[in-house]
Amino acid sequence: MKSRVDFSAAVENQMTVTLPSYSVNEGMARSAVAAFCAQLNPTAVELADIKCAVSEAVTNCIVHAYRGNVGEIRITVKLCEGRLVMVEIRDRGCGIENVKQAREPLYTTDAEGERSGMGFTVMESFCDEVRVSSRVGKGTTVALLKRLHK
Ligand code: ATP
Ligand code: MG
Repeated sequence: MKSRVDFSAAVENQMTVTLPSYSVNEGMARSAVAAFCAQLNPTAVELADIKCAVSEAVTNCIVHAYRGNVGEIRITVKLCEGRLVMVEIRDRGCGIENVKQAREPLYTTDAEGERSGMGFTVMESFCDEVRVSSRVGKGTTVALLKRLHK
């Protein structure tokens, strides 16, 4: 069991980007977050972990939250004291009815069989903590927390 990360850590620098939910923007989101985090001199592995987790969260906004429609994805990166990186990915899409169930490995609502239901599991394995808050019809916010090496 991973120890919980302190969400009240002081923010030393932050960036917010908003992008429409076109799949072409997934790579942009991932690269923008990585470029901003680079000022903390993370290891290549840490950077790859962050990119991978962001990619999963943003893809979920594109394929699930807005489905066939286009909506706004807001990504906020906070660099906090103690080399803590916090990335919040927010959509105003359909929301998740049962977050606990959605986070279970292999759970997917994808009917076409293209998805494996492993997105949240991947996020959890690459981050120290993942928090999800969601309201049906209002949207979802995923917070990814990662502490970088000293
Ligand atoms: P994979 O990520 O392996 O391609 P997946 O996206 O179905 O498959 P997860 O990322 O673990 O798997 O998400 C599980 C389920 O949670 C999704 O099938 C979807 O029902 C729901 N979900 C995840 N993110 C969102 C979101 N931002 N808005 C609405 N529903 C979501
Ligand atoms: Mg997914």
